[in-house]
Amino acid sequence: MPMFEGKSVLVLGGSRGIGAAIVRRFVADGARVTFTYSGSPDAAQALAAETGSTAVQTDSSDRDAVIARVRDSGPLDVLVVNAGIAIFGDALEQDPDAVDRLFRINVQSPYHASVEAARKMPPGGRIIVIGSVNGDRMPVPGMASYALSKSALQGMARGLARDFGPRGITINIVQPGPVDTDANPEDGPMRELMHSFMAIKRHGRPEEVAGMVAWLAGPEAGFVTGAMHTIDGAFGA
Ligand code: NDP
Repeated sequence: MPMFEGKSVLVLGGSRGIGAAIVRRFVADGARVTFTYSGSPDAAQALAAETGSTAVQTDSSDRDAVIARVRDSGPLDVLVVNAGIAIFGDALEQDPDAVDRLFRINVQSPYHASVEAARKMPPGGRIIVIGSVNGDRMPVPGMASYALSKSALQGMARGLARDFGPRGITINIVQPGPVDTDANPEDGPMRELMHSFMAIKRHGRPEEVAGMVAWLAGPEAGFVTGAMHTIDGAFGA
C-alpha cells in the first residue's frame, strides 16, 4: 500500500519549485493533496491537472485567510508550510513594508497555520515547515530579514513541539541550502559564490527536499519533533 494512502495533506505554497515537488511526492505516495498558491494560477492549475491534487488561492501574507484555509480544508493529517519569499539589498535601503510582508509570509503564517492545524489534526499528525540553512548561517550581506525569518522558525518548532507533543503531533523544520528553483536558479549569478561554501558543489533538487519532507511525514519519524533537518551540501557546515 502506498505510504500516504488515505492521508490528507495540505501544502501552503505548492504551485512551483520545492512546494510543487512536495505536492508531486505526496500524490505519488497515495495522499489526497490540496495546495495553495498566490501569484501563479497557471502553474497551479497545471500542477493540479497533472497530479489530481486540488489548487486553492490563498495569500500567505494574509493571516486570517491562511487560518481559514487550514480550518476549512477538511481532514488534515499532514501540513507542509513551504510558502516563503526573500528580499535582497542593503538593510538601510529596504522598504519597511516589504520587510514586514516577508515576516508575515515567512513567520506569522507558519505559526498561525501550525497552531490551527494542531487544533484539528488527529494523533499522528505531522507539521513540516520549510526553513533554510540561512537560519543557521548567513554568509552574505543583504539578506538579514530572510535570515531572521528562518531563524525564528527554529524557536517556533522548539516551542510548539512542547505544545503539540501531548496531542501526538510532531513539528519539524526542513532547512535546505541552495536548491534549483525560480527563486534560486542554478545557472544564476550567485552560483559560484554559493558553491564555494559547499562540500557538494551543486544546487539541490526540489525532489531531494521533498524526500526529506516525506520521511518526516511518514511512519518512521514519529519520535522526531522540535528539530531542524538540514539538507544543504554542507553549506552550513
Ligand atoms: P519559489 O519562489 O520557486 O516558489 C515559491 C512558492 O511559494 C510558490 O509556489 C509560490 O506560489 C509560493 N508563495 C510565495 N509567496 C506566497 C504567498 N504570499 N502566498 C501563497 N504562496 C506563496 O521558491 P522555492 O521553491 O525556492 O522556495 C520554497 C521554500 O523553500 C521557501 O520557504 C524558501 O524560503 C525555502 N528555501 C529555498 C531555497 C532555495 O535555494 N530555493 C533554499 C532554502 C530555503 P505563487 O507563485 O503561486 O505565489
